[in-house]
Amino acid sequence: MTEPAETKSSPAEAAATDRASADTAAIGCASAKAAGTSCAVEASDARCAAETAGANCAPAEAAATACTSAEAAAADRPVTELRPNQRTRRVMVGSVPVGGGAPVAVQSMINAPADDVAANLAQIDALAQAGCEIVRMAIPRRACLDAFAAVCEASPLPVVADVHFDPVIAIEAARRGAAKLRINPGNIGGLAATDAVLDAAGEAGIPIRIGVNAGSLDQELASRTDLTLPQKLAASAAQYVAYCESRGFSDLVVSAKAHDVMTTVRTYRQLATDIPHVPLHIGVTEAGTAFQGTIKSAAGLGILLEEGIGDTMRISLTDDPAVEVRACWTLLSALDLRRRNPELISCPTCGRCQVNLIDLAKQVEARLSGVANPVKVAVMGCVVNGPGEAADADIGVACGAGSGIVFRNGETIRKVAEDQIVDALMEEIENL
Ligand code: SF4
Repeated sequence: MTEPAETKSSPAEAAATDRASADTAAIGCASAKAAGTSCAVEASDARCAAETAGANCAPAEAAATACTSAEAAAADRPVTELRPNQRTRRVMVGSVPVGGGAPVAVQSMINAPADDVAANLAQIDALAQAGCEIVRMAIPRRACLDAFAAVCEASPLPVVADVHFDPVIAIEAARRGAAKLRINPGNIGGLAATDAVLDAAGEAGIPIRIGVNAGSLDQELASRTDLTLPQKLAASAAQYVAYCESRGFSDLVVSAKAHDVMTTVRTYRQLATDIPHVPLHIGVTEAGTAFQGTIKSAAGLGILLEEGIGDTMRISLTDDPAVEVRACWTLLSALDLRRRNPELISCPTCGRCQVNLIDLAKQVEARLSGVANPVKVAVMGCVVNGPGEAADADIGVACGAGSGIVFRNGETIRKVAEDQIVDALMEEIENL
């Protein structure tokens, strides 16, 4: 049997304002009707985001989901869940649901020394404050297992044990508090070792993420010339899933990341086709430092999420893990999937602008980082176009020479001096 790799599936929560998934939107609301569901967006003047994006969708998904609007999302603060993906099987990572219509869960990975309990817990606390929901910790040596157990014991987030090469570490991690195991069957030591890990996870009642990569494909699959790399990766993952399920273990998540964006996209599309019931953990791996990595991840994951693929995600960056979490939330918000943090609307400035808007916007952005509310805040460079262009902002300012007009939902509420703009905006946000 081919040793598998990792798969992922993406969930989205069926929020109170449940409507159409990206898939549903992609085939148009007519599909939702055909499937017997209703589209609230269609009933109003609002446009379905997925329709607007022109995404493709699977009719089967359309049948399982309902339509959703941005307005409905904005009403459900502080966190709004949209476009539930109900095709995948639900697994639980600690208390966090993954798949089966759950929200796309945000993950990151701590990178403090594996034997430093205090440092890892400090990172986890910072990640939790940033909105991380599942955290992964590498266990490179058996000697680190005690520290791993201590971290699990004190962590406010479910901790995934990341294990390579040594099945004993995976087995012990399952026994010592791991909320999930992440293994690469291609390097865990063969089928006998895999069986032992499956048994340990089963006894602990925790799921396993199978991570596939091109380097761990078996020789027979790797040498086939009739398959593309994405097809090989998906086939490898599917074989391993089938093997686990044949042994009675179905508490699985799959991932198959690549550093190349379109390889990642094609692989996950294939996974979603080949093993549509398995939750997928999506990500572009080794994406680079914050700027490039965020763009590559947003491009790849944006495509997948809009197609309804992905139940949990990580934006992998060569940076502070908290930056990964902020990037995840920003992407989910941009796609109208989940909202947790404020959104800054700021104009690019032009010759009409008479203040230092770039500095002003950065000040507002910094202050908003402490606000746990998905409020939309506009910082616009002139009163001519500013209020109109940012009319959908909850609160905003349109700047003139040495002053700013503060507006709420498009209505002017006060005028303040330039040096008071930031404080005035924050004051109004607190009053919302
Ligand atoms: S809001 Fe005003 S200053 Fe900003 S880009 Fe538009 S026209 Fe220019």
